[in-house]
Amino acid sequence: MTTTIFGKIIRREIPADIIYEDEMCLAFRDVNPQAPTHVLIIPKREIPRLCDAADADQALLGHLLLAAGKVARQLGVADAFRLVVNNGADAGQSVFHLHLHILAGRPLRWPPG
Ligand code: AMP
Repeated sequence: MTTTIFGKIIRREIPADIIYEDEMCLAFRDVNPQAPTHVLIIPKREIPRLCDAADADQALLGHLLLAAGKVARQLGVADAFRLVVNNGADAGQSVFHLHLHILAGRPLRWPPG
């Protein structure tokens, strides 16, 4: 599997504003924020897209959601945030290493664009 820019962040080969880390995942601020709070949560295991996750990743996927809640509490946005996973280029995915976007700090419309 080819690594991505997020793999380089995990290995500390390029800098990032890392705000949370545990044995399975890392959270850092998005370099091009779409909201006052915009954080990415990534698994350390390099899964390209959500649809590439396997049954064996069940605990990891649950862990990412729990980490999102933890990071939202840490950032003081737990009462109003949105989680986004873009799966595939046509859905807006540009980095092919699974990631959850945490967006908060402004009104979030529905339906999303
Ligand atoms: P997506 O379009 O869902 O694949 O999201 C990829 C996100 O990664 C975008 O919001 C980018 O702004 C963000 N991004 C790309 N490179 C970096 C980087 N080096 N550090 C932080 N965020 C990045």
